[in-house]
Order: sequence, then structure tokens, then C-alpha cells
Amino acid sequence: MIYQRSSQLFAEAEKVIPGGVNSPVRAFKAVGGTPIFVKSAKGAYLYDEDGNRLIDYINSWGPMILGHAYEPVVEAVIEKAKLGTSFGMPTELETQIAALAVSMVPNIDKIRFVNSGTEACMSAVRLARGFTKRDKIIKFAGCYHGHSDSFLIQAGSGAVTFGTPNSPGVTAGTAKDTLLAKYNDLENVKTLIEANKNEIAAIIVEPVAGNMGCIPPVKGFLEGLRELCTANGILLIFDEVMTGFRLARGGVQELFNIDADIVCFGKVIGGGLPVGAFAARAEIMNFLAPLGPVYQAGTLSGNPLAMAAGLAMLQALDNDREIFKRLEEKTAYLSAGIEKVLKANNVVFTINQIGSMISVHFDANPVTDFQSAAAGDNETFKKFFHGLVAEGVYIAPSAYETWFITDALTYEDLDFTIQAIDKVSKTF
Ligand code: PMP
Repeated sequence: MIYQRSSQLFAEAEKVIPGGVNSPVRAFKAVGGTPIFVKSAKGAYLYDEDGNRLIDYINSWGPMILGHAYEPVVEAVIEKAKLGTSFGMPTELETQIAALAVSMVPNIDKIRFVNSGTEACMSAVRLARGFTKRDKIIKFAGCYHGHSDSFLIQAGSGAVTFGTPNSPGVTAGTAKDTLLAKYNDLENVKTLIEANKNEIAAIIVEPVAGNMGCIPPVKGFLEGLRELCTANGILLIFDEVMTGFRLARGGVQELFNIDADIVCFGKVIGGGLPVGAFAARAEIMNFLAPLGPVYQAGTLSGNPLAMAAGLAMLQALDNDREIFKRLEEKTAYLSAGIEKVLKANNVVFTINQIGSMISVHFDANPVTDFQSAAAGDNETFKKFFHGLVAEGVYIAPSAYETWFITDALTYEDLDFTIQAIDKVSKTF
């Protein structure tokens, strides 16, 4: 494939945008090479500035669950735009999408819309702190909850330590209130709670992790977190920015029948426009201003174009009772196909899959936490990534990411992808 125009555009972008991108992973640092500049997308396909077509397995990192430029979403945005693009005043549309979201997700009475997943998680933690009158939170190594200060913390040498910031600009004062635990390790969480009695406001978790590849919770992990939270007056925050409206109508709460106290959303809920949201039962949500003392706000929150896109997306999912089953079947088919060809080519690998989330790891051991995810062979991943792009298949430019399957993918697309993987893995 030719990337002449992408290369030129990247060079121009680098002059005026740090690293040429508005979000770091887009710069292809982990895999090398030139970022692909997109011109348009439709259904399962991306079309780049050089005229190449790629089957898309990232789908804007999750939102495009029904494929790109999904007609009802596009139409809804066009119609709304004609009526004005922002008012900073209430609209009926906000109540409509809120009511629909509340009806689809278990265990929530009220929801507030923001502009990104980052804002959703940041606000959820502030709400939990205000509600419990405690300062500390527990997060898990390898889970990503956006780029706000409290979350940019990585593990120190021991598990039972205060976090150390992993980005300059995050103060030690902020970092000390974020405790780090190992994903899928309940004992580790228990130890942290014991050592910080009555100080922990919330445990925030990706109930199916998607930011170290796809890592489902082991049996009993989420149940255990629920019990520990209830027993210790801690709020359980499910970050369902990736999993919400993707793994089931009601997200992971529904899938595993576990109640969280606060749930964060992003990606699918905005239909591809900048939307996040957080939700909980009324008792907790009523702590937010203007009803309660916890302040949270946004000039563009509930923006009519974003709400129109989100509402059209949720309505489409609400009206299609087969959608999540169909996505799971497509993903399982892809998983089985990849497994077959990688085995036939003697590649060492592990595939993790749940619903429409899947990741391929170049390591023989089970991938259950950040440490095991990090053990994968990155050199093989680079060859895999560039090989697939050359075949017209786009996966995330990093081994730590999940692929998101869209309903727009046909079985022909999946077969094409499996054949491409067969071809590429012969060159390892
Ligand atoms: N939480 C999770 C689980 C995410 O995957 C992401 C983004 N990938 C975020 C939060 C942050 O969302 P945003 O990029 O919209 O700020």
C-alpha cells in the first residue's frame, strides 16, 4: 500500500500539533511507521487519504458498534444541526436519552452527561469522595480511566504501596490518594483495604478490562469486589466506557448480574460524538450540584448534536434484541479462525475474547493482568500490525489494545481477515 499522502499530512501536522496527533496512540510510536490519515469511513471500512481501503477493527476505539456513518445517527445529527448547535440551556432531547439509558441499564436511577470518558470517570470519583467523605481510591494496574490526574498512576515496587505518578505534572499529593491493586487479585484488594481502614471512597474498575488487551474478570473477582465494598462502606465504580452498551444492553452489570454503585459510560453512548456519562441510584446522584454539594458542570454537556447521535445509537440498540448475540457470534467466529491459522503456522499466542471484544497476545501463558499482558512479544506484534495493514486490515497500533467488532462486518470480511492473518503469520 502507498502512504505518500499520509506521510505528507503527518509532516505538516507535526509542525503545529505535538507529535502530529491529538491523542498519543495515534502516532504509531509503539509500532513505528507513518500514521494513516483517514479521509472517510463507511460501514466496516476506513478509506485513507492515499485511497487505500482498510477493514476496521478499532472503530474509533469502540463507539462505532453498528459501523461507520450509520445512517440514523448521521441523519439525526444533520437534522439537529439545522436547529442550532449549542444552547447551554436544557433541551427535551437530554431527558429522552437519559430516560432511555436508565431504562436499558440495571441499577441506575439518574444519569449525567459529560463530554468524554475521562470526564465521566473523573466526576464519578469526585462524587464518590463527596458521598463517602473519604479521599482514597483503589484502581487496578493496567486499567485506564482517562487522563485525569488521579488515574495516571502506575504500580510501585510492592503492591501495598502508595502510587507514584507515571506522568510529570501529576503531583505527589494527588498520587498518594490512588492505591494500586493487581487486576483479578482479590487478596491484594483486601490487603489494601485493611491497611487503609475507613479511608477508601471507591474502587474503580474496568469490569472487563480493555486497556491491556481484553482481559475478562476471573470467576469471583467482581463478586468479591462487590462484597468487599459493601462490607467496608466503599463505593464500587464500574468504568463501562468500553463495555457499556457493547457487551450487553445493560453492560457488565447485566452480563454478570453484579450491581455497581456508580457506572461510567463513553464511546457507544455518544454514537461517535464526544459524549461520556456517569450514573447511579438517586441517593448518590442527588449529591451532585445543583441538588447537592458536589460540583460538576460543562458548557457543552448535553450538547444537542451529541445527544441526537447518542439517542439514535441507543434506540438502534434498544430495538435490536439480537444485536449483542450477533456480535458475539461474529467475534467467536473470528477468534476461532485466528486460532486455527496461528496454530497451523506454529505461532505462540493467546487469544482473549468476550462478546465483541477480542485481543491477540503473542505469549503462550494466560493473560489475566497487566504483568501477563506485558509479557507478550512486541516484535512479533509489530510485524503482525504492519503485515495486516499491508493486507488491508486495520487493528490498533499497540499490543495493549482491544479490537472492537462492529455489526457492519460481514462473514466475508472476517474470512478475508483470517486469510490475511494466515498470510502474515507465515512471515514471522
Ligand atoms: N475509561 C475507559 C475504560 C476507556 O477505555 C477510556 C478510553 N479509551 C476512558 C475511560 C477515557 O475515555 P475518553 O478517551 O473518552 O476520555
